Amino acid sequence: MPTSKDIDVNKLNFTIGPVQSSEHIRNIGAEQVPYFRTQEFSTLMLENERLMKQLADAEANARVCFITGSGTASMEAVVSNCFTPQDRLLIINGGTFGHRFEELAEIYEIPHTTVHVEMGHKLTKEQLYAFDGQSYSALLVNMHETSTGVLYDMDMIADFCRKNSIFLVVDAISSFLCDSFSMKRWGVSVMIAASQKALACHPGISMITLSSEAVQRITSHNVKCLYLNLNLALSNGERGQTPFTPAISILRQLNARVKDIIASGGVEKEIQRVAALASDFRSRISDLPFSLFPERMSNALTAICPNNVSAYSIFTTLKDEYDIWVCPNGGILADKVLRVGHIGDLSVSDNTRLINALKDMQQRGLL
Ligand SMILES: *Cc1c(COP(=O)(O)O)cnc(C)c1O
Repeated sequence: MPTSKDIDVNKLNFTIGPVQSSEHIRNIGAEQVPYFRTQEFSTLMLENERLMKQLADAEANARVCFITGSGTASMEAVVSNCFTPQDRLLIINGGTFGHRFEELAEIYEIPHTTVHVEMGHKLTKEQLYAFDGQSYSALLVNMHETSTGVLYDMDMIADFCRKNSIFLVVDAISSFLCDSFSMKRWGVSVMIAASQKALACHPGISMITLSSEAVQRITSHNVKCLYLNLNLALSNGERGQTPFTPAISILRQLNARVKDIIASGGVEKEIQRVAALASDFRSRISDLPFSLFPERMSNALTAICPNNVSAYSIFTTLKDEYDIWVCPNGGILADKVLRVGHIGDLSVSDNTRLINALKDMQQRGLL
């Protein structure tokens, strides 16, 4: 039996999550965990809810549920709590994460139709409007399909949903704080985010921001589950509590991180920072043997197709020989598409280190 060795935590991390956290946030993770059935913790949680609503540009009556679990836990909570077999869902599937919504709809036996988007391509108006006027009750989309880097056109999707009076669920897990987002402007009913992407905290918390319409939908359903029961989360949340022991340290990190973002100029400023890192990286790989993958890219990551070698081999060489993590892909994209994240505590000089490593690999004949 192999025994575990210490994992090197000091590699430069360009993955899409978990990402590098700032020293301030890491230090919170190193502290003792305080008892949480207290007024002090409730105050922190009510502040978390208020700040999350501010960052998501949510309506005044919106609510936020903090789920201890990764992003998929919140995706599952949304599908199981918001929908019943009386609903008809339209699911945008352009890769791994779109497929996850489809799997959930199947497990919970919610009638659904999938709009298949070819990997790496955008959703077109023609594809979407083929479902116009067909009495779907909800549309589910991953604003940024993280497996391919495609950023969907949310203005177009929001117009379609308004026109058809459709409940709009947005998994914004990998686009939140990277690409502009507004619950109010787009009439989003449910928005999902998670701690380990651009929020750059440790993994383990995901957040569901609910419009008042979504809250009503949930309170009128009788969901058959305990841990992901959003009615329980909502009623406990009224006093700043959670039904079960939450990942307290991460909720404290989240509080500090959101305050850091606001103190540094707010959400648009943070988006600009991520966008600047992405455009710096993209401008400096133009003479490397890569082609860019999707038609419409999120600032969160750059997806590249190496012209000459397997994408996965670049991931392995960077990890083992240069102490850099980039993000490989799974399934049919594993050898084709490599992803470089621009989220977390990264700088232009970190980009330089990655570019230099890639240029060195090119000289060695490994690109
Ligand atoms: C990362 C991610 C998720 C959640 O994945 P977990 O591993 O469960 O945190 C969901 N949707 C998208 C678009 C993501 O990028």
